[in-house]
Amino acid sequence: MRGTDMQAAVTDMLAGLIQDGIAESGDYIDADTGLLMCGKCRSKKQTVVKLMGRTMKPSCLCRCKSEELEKEKQKRKDKELMEGISRLKSAGLQDRTFYGYTFANCDETHLCARYAHRYVGHFAEFQKNGQGLLFWGDVGTGKTFLAGCIANALMEKNIPVLMTSFPKLLNALGGLYSGEKNEYLKNLNHYQLLIIDDLGVERDTPYVLETVYLVIDERYKSGKPFIITTNLSLEKLQNPADLEHGRIYDRIMERCVPVAFSGKNYRTDKGSKNMENATGILRDEPT
Ligand SMILES: [Zn+2]
Repeated sequence: MRGTDMQAAVTDMLAGLIQDGIAESGDYIDADTGLLMCGKCRSKKQTVVKLMGRTMKPSCLCRCKSEELEKEKQKRKDKELMEGISRLKSAGLQDRTFYGYTFANCDETHLCARYAHRYVGHFAEFQKNGQGLLFWGDVGTGKTFLAGCIANALMEKNIPVLMTSFPKLLNALGGLYSGEKNEYLKNLNHYQLLIIDDLGVERDTPYVLETVYLVIDERYKSGKPFIITTNLSLEKLQNPADLEHGRIYDRIMERCVPVAFSGKNYRTDKGSKNMENATGILRDEPT
C-alpha cells in the first residue's frame, strides 16, 4: 500500500471507531503499533491479544479513563461509608446530645480523655479480649461525655456501637415476654461495643436488679466488650451489699478496666493480670 492509501485507510478506520463509540475525537492511531491511542492522555485504548494464531485488538481503558473511573468508584464508596456511619449513629445514639460528644470537642490534656482516646485506638485488642471500661466517679466529671466520644469515634470507623442507659433498657424490656426479652438482649450483641450510662440511678427493686443482671450477664457471656459509667464508688462495686448486687458488679469488674473520674486519683487496684495488661496498653503509648 502506498503512503497516501495507508493514511486514508487509517483515517477510515478511526472514523469507524468513532462511529462505534470506541474512539473519541482527538484520538489517533499509533504509527508504529497501529493501536488506537487516547488523544488526552496519549496512552493505549487498544491492546493486542493473540488467540489461536489470530491477532486481535480489543479495546481497553486508557490511563485518564481508568483514573476517572477509579475516582468515581472512590466517591461512591465514600458516600456509602458516610451513609453507613449516619445510619450507625441514628441507631446507636439514643440521645441527640450524644452527637456532639466527640474528641474534637474534648480537652485531651485530661488523663481520662487520653485513656478514652487510646481505648478507641486499640479497640481491636480490647475487643479480642472482651475488655471494656468502667468510668466511675462523681456526677459532672465527664464520664458520659467521654463514653460518647468513644461511641462516636468508633462509629466513624464504621464499628456498630450502642450507647444507652439502664432506665432506657428497662423501659424497652418492660413490655416484653421472657422469650422476646432474651431475643432483645441477644440482639444487643450485634453491637461491637455496648455502652450503658449511669449504672446505679435505676430503682433498686428485685425486678430491676434481675433485669440489670440479665443485661450484663448476656453481654458477659457474649465475650464482647461493654463500657459502664456510674456514680457508684469503686469501693461499693468491690464490696457489694448482697449477692444480687454482687453477681452484677463481679461481671463488670471482671471485664471492665476501672477509670476514676475524681480528677486526681486513677486506680485499677482490683483486677486480673489481663486487666493490668490492658491498663498497660492504656498507659504506655507516648502522646
Ligand atoms: Zn485517556
